[in-house]
Amino acid sequence: MSLEARLKKEIQATGPLTVADYMAQALYDPVDGYYATKVPIGSNADYITAPEMTQVFGEIIALWMINTWQKAGAPNPFHLVEMGPGRGTMMADIVRTLQKLNIPLPSIHLVEVSPLLKTIQQEKLKGLPITWHKDIATLPQQEGYCLMIANEFWDALPIQQHVKVDKNWVERKIELDGDSLVFSPRGEAIKETCLNMPSLVTQISQHLKANGGAALFIDYGYDHTNAIGDTLQSLQNHRKQTPLMNPGSADLTHHVDFHRLSSLFQENGLTAQGPFPQGQFLTEHGINERTEQLCQKATPEQKGSLRTAAVRLTHPAHMGNLFKVLSVST
Ligand code: SAH
Repeated sequence: MSLEARLKKEIQATGPLTVADYMAQALYDPVDGYYATKVPIGSNADYITAPEMTQVFGEIIALWMINTWQKAGAPNPFHLVEMGPGRGTMMADIVRTLQKLNIPLPSIHLVEVSPLLKTIQQEKLKGLPITWHKDIATLPQQEGYCLMIANEFWDALPIQQHVKVDKNWVERKIELDGDSLVFSPRGEAIKETCLNMPSLVTQISQHLKANGGAALFIDYGYDHTNAIGDTLQSLQNHRKQTPLMNPGSADLTHHVDFHRLSSLFQENGLTAQGPFPQGQFLTEHGINERTEQLCQKATPEQKGSLRTAAVRLTHPAHMGNLFKVLSVST
């Protein structure tokens, strides 16, 4: 039975599903969920991410790591953690950059739920000192200073939605209309809450505080309080579609509430910087200079793709403003 058929049966038997339940099952069902069955990222897949557009993205993240580590006094031992490493491309670019700059290669820990992506990461990062984790709970206790990164990780976590109906906020659910999945009730406005955010922030903060460390989070999202709006979106084959279509075989994401993310880290005793617009962060860290440097030795086709990527990542009308960069440190 398909996941969609199972969800419909569940609604018939026990009533409407919350948006968070729907997302959790569509993304994380161990047999039929999106992360169990599909490789999401790539030009032939559902969407493309910054590290897949240009090597300069990962190189800049590596520079952030090196600066942060050196400012902390170059503590040793140290380790790297990446949450949701996708195809492993960013980590490959980071490792190459560290090696080029003669930084001793630390142990690397990748937190990944998808068995399919883990296989791709193992292939791409063969021979490196990597440990994989399904969950942040198993990160090492004794490996010293931590540098953590995550690109497009938080947007994949389930959110709860509330909808305003006649002055009252009620939880938005998914029910059946005939044989179709529909949102209910309809209302004037929508508020969103990522339910896993507080506990994950606490776990990350505890890991960083145990030995010192810093983390950099890049994602699409907003930075104001009391935000209103429905940001739940579904992408399949690079096209947007209704989030209720093809559960389990379409990507589902939401815009990250950076104001809350930053506040939660501060409540856990960390210092937060940002969020900054991605365009500003990348420009200040030299994306254009590095792109031009690479262009000097590139074919005309490579030049085109390097420069197009730099523009897409930094231009306010593309990913420069919507994407934000938040760093936190002990
Ligand atoms: N960082 C990569 C991939 C982004 S897609 C890039 O920029 O290309 C989201 C990634 O997070 C995927 O690797 C996905 O499998 C992983 N992921 C999603 N939810 C997760 C969770 N709860 N725990 C660990 N990894 C998760």
